Amino acid sequence: MSISKEYLIQAQDELEKLRSANRRTEYLRHAEIIEKIPEYAKLEEKLSATMANVVALVASKSSGCEEKIKAVSEENISIQNRMEQLLVENGYDKNYLGEIYSCEKCRDKGIIDGNWCGCLKKIAHRLAADDLNKRSPLKLCSFETFDLSLYSDVAKGESSPRDEMEQNFNICVNFADNFKGNEKGLLMTGGTGLGKTHLSLSVAKRIIQKDFSVVYCSVPELLRAINNEQFGRSDGNTMSVISSCDLLVLDDLGAENPTERDVSLLYEIINGRLCRSLPMIINTNLSAEKLNLRYSERLFSRLFSLEVLFFKGDDNRLKY
Ligand SMILES: [Zn+2]
Repeated sequence: MSISKEYLIQAQDELEKLRSANRRTEYLRHAEIIEKIPEYAKLEEKLSATMANVVALVASKSSGCEEKIKAVSEENISIQNRMEQLLVENGYDKNYLGEIYSCEKCRDKGIIDGNWCGCLKKIAHRLAADDLNKRSPLKLCSFETFDLSLYSDVAKGESSPRDEMEQNFNICVNFADNFKGNEKGLLMTGGTGLGKTHLSLSVAKRIIQKDFSVVYCSVPELLRAINNEQFGRSDGNTMSVISSCDLLVLDDLGAENPTERDVSLLYEIINGRLCRSLPMIINTNLSAEKLNLRYSERLFSRLFSLEVLFFKGDDNRLKY
């Protein structure tokens, strides 16, 4: 799915800032070495003098200059070796003063063989996701503030709501920690106020920290945005962004009053991501039976191809 040019241009600006930051780091590293290792500074001066010698010899084309060039070149190599050795002796990597690139593939140019490099596309996807997330009034949550003690530890049947919630919690932490961007995803189902949104936003936060692009949106809002764009009532490329981000979090599936067109759109989004092995987290207050009644058979089967987490218990929002 293509990303709009506007984000690619913004991404080039970001890449430019990265390039400047890398040049600055190179400069500071050099200044640090010159100050710490005086011998290094002297060798550097000597090297530039011998380089000038080589250039002068080549230009003179005098007799026997090949021999002289060979001798000076050998001297250069031995100076360079000694400079590397000095760095290592002082506890630095021998490449400490080499050029720094944030992306070795394109050397921070953003283009390889006339095509956009993956690093540039990644920045563009993140910028697009950030823009879409601005519409969401929710702040990212964290696993650290998820309070398992809010769930009853009184067993109903074989386990208590707290045991079950602990399992859900661990599945979400694992999902976030091992996220590679090619897993299917999670379907969280259960009543309101049981922590589905908190856990999915905690996953989102951790994955964003790993530099993946994440889009979070509620299903009613998402459908409204796409419909408005497709009918020319507003600008945007929501469909493209949610189809290409690394993780899509769809909150509140079932809160919308779906038309047939909405159901088709949802199928297109969900099936499209599954076909391209792009993960999702989908939250719904509806039970499996109600989901089955509301949506098409094929959408229902796609939803339940995700790993299903059941949220049980009482509404925790009442306890705050
Ligand atoms: Zn690159």
